[in-house]
Amino acid sequence: MTNLSCPGTPRFCPFCSSELSTKYVDDRKRFYCETCEEVIWQNPKPAAGVVVTGNEETLLIKRGIEPDKGKWSIPAGFLEQDEEPEKGAARELKEETSVEANPDELELFDTVFIEQPGRGYVLVLVYLISKEEVEGGVNAGDDAEKARYWTLQDLEESGEEMREPYLEPVREVLKVT
Ligand SMILES: [Zn+2]
Repeated sequence: MTNLSCPGTPRFCPFCSSELSTKYVDDRKRFYCETCEEVIWQNPKPAAGVVVTGNEETLLIKRGIEPDKGKWSIPAGFLEQDEEPEKGAARELKEETSVEANPDELELFDTVFIEQPGRGYVLVLVYLISKEEVEGGVNAGDDAEKARYWTLQDLEESGEEMREPYLEPVREVLKVT
């Protein structure tokens, strides 16, 4: 998964701005700052999302921005740096769909890696909650152009596209609920 030639990966030290070299540490090629004598670690960015499900449907949003603009996704987004993942997931759900969930009712279901070309990987914690446990009507907001419940079959037959990394967890959810 590590691709050091990928454009957008760091070329300069974030601390002293020296040009970085590379070095093998723990069996992987890493960026290394000769001046600071430090490895510049590359870690995934944490994000959280929610699958609201019931009656073979899940609540999805149509992305209004890149990447994957126009594709359907679970409501999800980046965590604030001091934010509990469950709270971040509930916050994103509300911002993008107006639907409210109690963070304590969210159950961790899966994790998904999404590659952001040139910007490394996002690690999405995917939470699950049933339709009966959430409150409020569905209204698209924030980065979402539309928000609605879909069955996967209806989505596929409509010619609309699902954001690829979320296909598997959503299929899985619909199987187990
Ligand atoms: Zn440095």
